[in-house]
Amino acid sequence: MIGNELKPRIGLFGRRNVGKSSLVNYLTGQQIAIVSDTAGTTTDPVRKSMEIGGIGPVVLVDTAGIDDEGTLGAQRVEKSMAALAEVDLALLLYTEWGEPEERVVRWCTEHSTPLLRIRSKVDTPDFPNHPDHPDFRLTTSDPSLREGLIEAIRKAMPESAYHKRTLLGDVVHQGETVVLVTPIDSSAPEGRMILPQVQVLRDLMDLHAVAVFCQPEELEVESGKWKVESPRLVITDSQAFERVAAVVPEEVPLTSFSVVLARQKGLFEEYLEGTRMIGDLKDGDRVLLLESCTHNVTCEDIGRVKLPAALKKATGKSLQCEVIGGQSPLPKDLSQYALVIQCGGCVITAQQVKARLLPALEVGVPVSNYGLALAWCGGIFDRATKIFKQ
Ligand code: SF4
Repeated sequence: MIGNELKPRIGLFGRRNVGKSSLVNYLTGQQIAIVSDTAGTTTDPVRKSMEIGGIGPVVLVDTAGIDDEGTLGAQRVEKSMAALAEVDLALLLYTEWGEPEERVVRWCTEHSTPLLRIRSKVDTPDFPNHPDHPDFRLTTSDPSLREGLIEAIRKAMPESAYHKRTLLGDVVHQGETVVLVTPIDSSAPEGRMILPQVQVLRDLMDLHAVAVFCQPEELEVESGKWKVESPRLVITDSQAFERVAAVVPEEVPLTSFSVVLARQKGLFEEYLEGTRMIGDLKDGDRVLLLESCTHNVTCEDIGRVKLPAALKKATGKSLQCEVIGGQSPLPKDLSQYALVIQCGGCVITAQQVKARLLPALEVGVPVSNYGLALAWCGGIFDRATKIFKQ
C-alpha cells in the first residue's frame, strides 16, 4: 500500500456493463479484469497496481455500476461513489447519459477531481438527444484508438498525482538537525521500528537533514548538557510527549510522529479546527473513532482504551465513544456524533482518509485525528502544532 501511494490513481466509473473491465484490459494490454456480458460482474471497487505503456505505473480502481439496483446494488453504488474521493483522475464511461452520469460529474466538479468523459462502445448507435460531449470516443475492439486515449489520460492527469508529499520539507532544511525520540515499548520492541518513525527518517534523509535518535531517558540524562546544538525540531512518540516536553527547552520546536503523519494523511486544517471542539463536548455526546485497519486489539489499545480515557479525563464529561475498524460502513446518520476522530491511517492513502471523513464534514460534524486529540487531552496541542502554523 505504501508503494501504491506514490502512483497516480485512475478510477473507472460508469453504469453496469458499459465496458469498464474491458477498458482495464485495453489499457494494460492484458486480460487482467474479468469481462462478461452479464451486468454487475464487478461488485466492490477493485484496486490493481499496474504499468500502462505511455503512462507508467498507476493504480487502477475498477468500480461497480453506478446504476445498480436493489438494496445491495445501492450499497455498491455508494462504494463506487466513495471511490471517487481516492482517485487523481476519474474516467467516466457511458453509452447513455442520465442521472448516474450527472451524479459523477457533479461530484467531480464539486471536489475539483479531473474527469475524462469517454463515450464507450461507439460501434453501437448514439442515443437520442445526447446532452453531453465526450472527451473521447472509444471502442475497445479498435486497437488503433489506444494511443489517442493514453494521450488524453496523460493530458487530464493532474501534476499533483506524480508528486510525493514530503512530511517535513516545509519546516526542515538541508543540514538541520532533528532529534527523534523513540521509546522502546510494546509497540516498538527491540529490533523493530514502527512505520511512522521509518517514514520520518526517510523523509529527513531525502531532505539531507541530520537525524539523531534517542530514547526519552537519554534526552533527560543529556538535558543539562545537551550535546545536540540548536536542533531545528524534536519529534517524539505521542506517549512520551509530556515527559519529553518537560525536558526540551520551550524555544525548541517540539511535535509528535502522529502529528507529522496527520499532516500527510488527511485534512490537517480541518483536524486543527475539529480538535479544538473537544473542549465543547458535553455529557452524553457521541464520539466516533475511525480506525483504518483491524489491527490486533491489545489492552493498551488507543482507540478503545487510551483515547476514550484521555477524552473523559480532559473534558470531565461522560462521552459515548464508538470505534469502527477497517473499511466497515459508516453509520447512516453521522449528524448524531459530536466529533469524529480518525486514526493515523498508516495503511491507507491520504485520499482514502479524506474519503472516509468527507461524509462527516458534509453534515457539519468536526473531525480530528488520534495524535492531535491525544495532544489536546495532554495539554500539549498548541506546542505540538505550533511549528506547522508558522
Ligand atoms: S494508525 Fe490506523 S491504520 Fe495505522 S495501525 Fe493504527 S489503526 Fe491501523
